[in-house]
Amino acid sequence: MANVNDNFLKLQDNYLFSEISKKVNEYKKNNPYKKIIKMGIGDVTLPIPKAVTEAMHKAVQEMGDATTFKGYPPEYGYDFLKEKIIDNDYKKRNINIDKSEIFISDGAKSDTGNILDIFENENTVAITNPVYPVYIDTNIMAGNKIVYIPMNKENNFTPQIPNEKIDIIYLCFPNNPTGVTLEKQELQKWVDYAIENKSIIIYDAAYVAFITEENIVHSIYEIDGAKKVAIEVKSFSKTAGFTGIRCGYTVVPKDVFGFTRAKEKVSLNKLWARRQSTKFNGVSYITQIGAEAVYSDEGKKQTKQNINFYMENAKIIKNELKKFGFDVTGGTNAPYIWLKTPNGLTSWQFFDYLLNEKQIVGTPRKRIWGRRRRVF
Ligand code: PLP
Repeated sequence: MANVNDNFLKLQDNYLFSEISKKVNEYKKNNPYKKIIKMGIGDVTLPIPKAVTEAMHKAVQEMGDATTFKGYPPEYGYDFLKEKIIDNDYKKRNINIDKSEIFISDGAKSDTGNILDIFENENTVAITNPVYPVYIDTNIMAGNKIVYIPMNKENNFTPQIPNEKIDIIYLCFPNNPTGVTLEKQELQKWVDYAIENKSIIIYDAAYVAFITEENIVHSIYEIDGAKKVAIEVKSFSKTAGFTGIRCGYTVVPKDVFGFTRAKEKVSLNKLWARRQSTKFNGVSYITQIGAEAVYSDEGKKQTKQNINFYMENAKIIKNELKKFGFDVTGGTNAPYIWLKTPNGLTSWQFFDYLLNEKQIVGTPRKRIWGRRRRVF
């Protein structure tokens, strides 16, 4: 008899975005001629920048030529991409990261979920609410205890450190879905807490490319002490339209340690390297060449143009919603706009209203059992 991981039975039937797409598909089936504006799952709509596709075309040619063909990629990523990441994403911000601390991956979704492989399954995990649903579902699958940290108008969307002891903390800034960022001194509080309590922070910076205000941190390693406690996850998905190509990276500094039950220190960099070399196939050469091109002069210019387009949309949406009297956040350092639902509607009621009456798809708050959810 094969026993299943019964933590899976504790999950809601559908992943949030699957539930949204089920509703949208149902609506489309019944209303085939209605045009729908999709603002649900944060997918990109603009094509991949030309600098990236040109580089990838060349890489395809290399793969077809015996003199330049490449087989299995290095399991943690090619040095040419890691060097660009270090120079552009870290050195420029006076952060010292070594190549051995960077792990190229097929994206931030996999990494934020898979990272739990290297932790035991009875950790207490802090997750802000609302949040990118992957953190919740993967921790339920792993059997961890989740403590929800509210982010709402009452606390100015600033998550507060809870009273109970936390082992793993998920932070995502710029935030999906609220679009807010966190002041440096607030982030410092979480890092100090993690150092004092031997906790680990998993910092998802998938939306860093959308930051427009210079005083906002672009990496958690800009915070004193963060290299001792934080794992940082980044993605080319939103930065450069890679949602369909798949590439991201995770930084696990050498000084970040977890503990055995016997309280011995263990290097998380070593464990993650071991996990990836065993369970992950690496990212294709063609994809990594494409990611490298994001850092070329043309690549930077073209990705910036795309980001400006999304941010212009966000600005228009935000300003119009404000004109109608909605309470809104986000849209300044992230493409997301988060609003308070009107007339006491729950976020799913408002979702249905927008879809059925206005043919607009938004993202409602993920259902968390036993909690009120009023913010859309
Ligand atoms: N992290 C956050 C906060 C996201 O919103 C998303 C995608 O919407 C991801 C990670 C997924 O990134 P990737 O496409 O690199 O898996």
